[in-house]
Amino acid sequence: MTSTSKPHAEIAGAGLAGLTAAVALAERGWSVRVHERYQSLRSQGFGITTHANGLRVLKAVGAYEDTVRDANPLSVSELRDSEDRLISHTRYRAQSIRVSRYRLVAALAERGRALGVELAFNSAAAGADRAGELRLESGPRLKADLVIGADGINSRVRDSLDLIRSRRIKADGAMRLVIPRLPEEVASEDANKVIEWWSGNRRIIYGACSPTELYIALVARADDPLGCQAPIDRASWIQAFPKHGALFERIHRDAEWDKVMWVPFQVLKLTSWSAGRVAIAGDAAHAMPPNLGQGGGCSLMNVLALAVILEETGNDVERALSLWEQRERPLTEHTQFWSQLYSVLTAWPRALREPAFALLGLPWMQKQYRRTSNHIATGTEHVN
Ligand SMILES: Cc1cc2nc3c(=O)[nH]c(=O)nc-3n(C[C@H](O)[C@H](O)[C@H](O)COP(=O)(O)OP(=O)(O)OC[C@H]3O[C@@H](n4cnc5c(N)ncnc54)[C@H](O)[C@@H]3O)c2cc1C
Repeated sequence: MTSTSKPHAEIAGAGLAGLTAAVALAERGWSVRVHERYQSLRSQGFGITTHANGLRVLKAVGAYEDTVRDANPLSVSELRDSEDRLISHTRYRAQSIRVSRYRLVAALAERGRALGVELAFNSAAAGADRAGELRLESGPRLKADLVIGADGINSRVRDSLDLIRSRRIKADGAMRLVIPRLPEEVASEDANKVIEWWSGNRRIIYGACSPTELYIALVARADDPLGCQAPIDRASWIQAFPKHGALFERIHRDAEWDKVMWVPFQVLKLTSWSAGRVAIAGDAAHAMPPNLGQGGGCSLMNVLALAVILEETGNDVERALSLWEQRERPLTEHTQFWSQLYSVLTAWPRALREPAFALLGLPWMQKQYRRTSNHIATGTEHVN
């Protein structure tokens, strides 16, 4: 970087982390190019829950209004058993929404374009060099003041720098899908709830993510092959959740099965979130089970913080990267710990699990679970 030119960032991955980083840097005077391996933004029809901490980041980067236009506000989360009996009922104290993931990503991309961010599609990253060079699969090596590997859980940028300290593949995982909402579901008092039904080690997570779409995650363990099968094995799901036969018929009929697969949850830790002028962000740095709905939230918070800290240090990239990890990593590790604790319960027999859920309702436990959503993230102090 010369004193007259703008600092420049090359980012691998146009997901939540890559696009939010692009917007936050462009707002602070950087020229930014984002490389996405696919030919367009990913359009998988999943929903995503975004809690108050993530919503504050979206406000801070100017993508909030566009994101929430069709989102479903959430007021209550319920746990129910296979017979649909209520186990627990928790009212959300702060704002949370469930939104179509595509809508969220598209809102960030639109905001980026308005700020002059260049989006390069069909542009897969192959790796990076600590001196600040992004290598593309097609051959070019692109110099930058900062490279960000936001290329998801199987990040090639991260792996080219050999940064993984531990990667734990959990026994539980999920199939995510979206089906059309029925008119009676739109009118129902359940419309603003997230409901999680448990049966044995299986779960159904159910909640609207737009006026027309119902998002469902079917959670099963790897040692339950019928539970991991896509398209679903209707008979075994109906046997597990006998009250939900009609729902499974709809899922079987309406889900876009070519886009659905079971993926195991993972917990990923790095030796360092950066190497030289390369930062690793989002799932590439800190994937976690989705039980707290905070993988995306942490991704959003951390990349905004990176841009803020770069600004604070006058774009002294290596110093900023070190400060960034020092300040932001502890909360992310807290979130990883508590989100995987919930996954541990999936292996417990019901007789032990239900008392454990009761413990999760204790104020101290609630405080640990809510710490991330209550956090006022770096760069969002001015947001209300
Ligand atoms: C079942 C499930 C449910 C979840 N629910 C929630 C939830 O409710 N709330 C929440 O906050 N989080 C949730 N998460 C976590 C959340 O999805 C992730 O934390 C979030 O998507 C991470 O964003 P990312 O940008 O780091 O990665 P991704 O969203 O994976 O984006 C990475 C991008 O990089 C691109 N890419 C990959 N490789 C390359 C390459 N070599 N070159 C260029 N581009 C590349 C990909 O195509 C993609 O566009 C859930 C996760 C799972 C598995």
